[in-house]
Amino acid sequence: VLKSAAKVPSKILDLMDGFRASKALFVASKLKMFDHLRAKGPLKAVDIANEVGTSVCGTERLLDACAALGLLEKTPQGYSNTDSANTYLTSDGEYSLHGYIIHSNDHLWPLFTNLESAVKEGSRQNHRAFGKKEEDLFKDYYQSQEVKQRFMAAMHSIAHLTARDVATAFDLSQFKSACDLGGCTGALAHELVQIYPNLKVTVFDLPEVIANTSYFQPSGQHTAPVTFVSGDFFKDNLPEADLYILSRVLHDWPDEKVHVLLSKISAVCKPGCGILLAEMVLDDEKKIRSTALLQSLNMLVQTEGKERSGSEYQHLLEQHGFTNVKIRLTGNLLDAILCVKT
Ligand code: SAM
Repeated sequence: VLKSAAKVPSKILDLMDGFRASKALFVASKLKMFDHLRAKGPLKAVDIANEVGTSVCGTERLLDACAALGLLEKTPQGYSNTDSANTYLTSDGEYSLHGYIIHSNDHLWPLFTNLESAVKEGSRQNHRAFGKKEEDLFKDYYQSQEVKQRFMAAMHSIAHLTARDVATAFDLSQFKSACDLGGCTGALAHELVQIYPNLKVTVFDLPEVIANTSYFQPSGQHTAPVTFVSGDFFKDNLPEADLYILSRVLHDWPDEKVHVLLSKISAVCKPGCGILLAEMVLDDEKKIRSTALLQSLNMLVQTEGKERSGSEYQHLLEQHGFTNVKIRLTGNLLDAILCVKT
């Protein structure tokens, strides 16, 4: 008697394959194949291999895999980019994810290779992945100009992609000035001054970051200028503002450090002033939002922080006198939380 065929566990098989597909995307991006295809496609594997300096047999397999994954189109004339590859995978497109893809390949991949140790030890793995030098995570990243530039490009690509949804999640027109603490390249700040032309925005970040921001400024746009101020938000005085913004900042830190930062903000906030958080917000039961839950693992392997649920953020904020906490899930990679000091 023939046993009935086992059901194909497609979800599990897809997950087993996930890392292979990620790496195929990373390598094609790192070799700038999508840039070559935008400039000259359709191209045969041999032409791309010659342009990039890779083997023909390896290049053909990589391109075929990318085509099967829906990143490229394959016709008798050769390979060409899909619309989505042109928009997101070429290195210089406005909404390019290239910076974050390179960060994923060069930085997150070695960290996730040590996920087992992170789970066993409950702590970050920078020392195993890269031989950590400094206790402070960001000082460690910023020691090398190359790592700093890569990190900033990665932050910029996601911040730019999410900026409009974060900036419009709430009507912020009652605020006259905003300070984006840990605002990095100013991607969100530039979006805010476009949407709220009367808002004065200051980006506050570590001196190493502020020194490198010029590369990321939009060219030829008639926006009110954004001011950049360098400092350490745990140690230095914070610039005055009606609205403090923390985008992907609280998720870097454990509750103790979040309390230090929120109490500093609370001390300089007058009643009516606000905080805008931009983070991936977990559902309260921590069981639905897989992108955010995987992001929390990403925080485990490299920081002392974690992703938090809406009620966890609300609890942290209320302890520092911030009430009327409103949460908006944007459908984009970052959600928004607004609260005011009472
Ligand atoms: N807000 C940006 C975004 O959403 O794209 C960047 C987020 S990045 C995960 C965290 C930022 O916090 C970095 O730009 C980092 O330099 C900054 N930062 C970390 N520690 C800091 C400190 N002590 N003082 C000021 N900025 C700090």
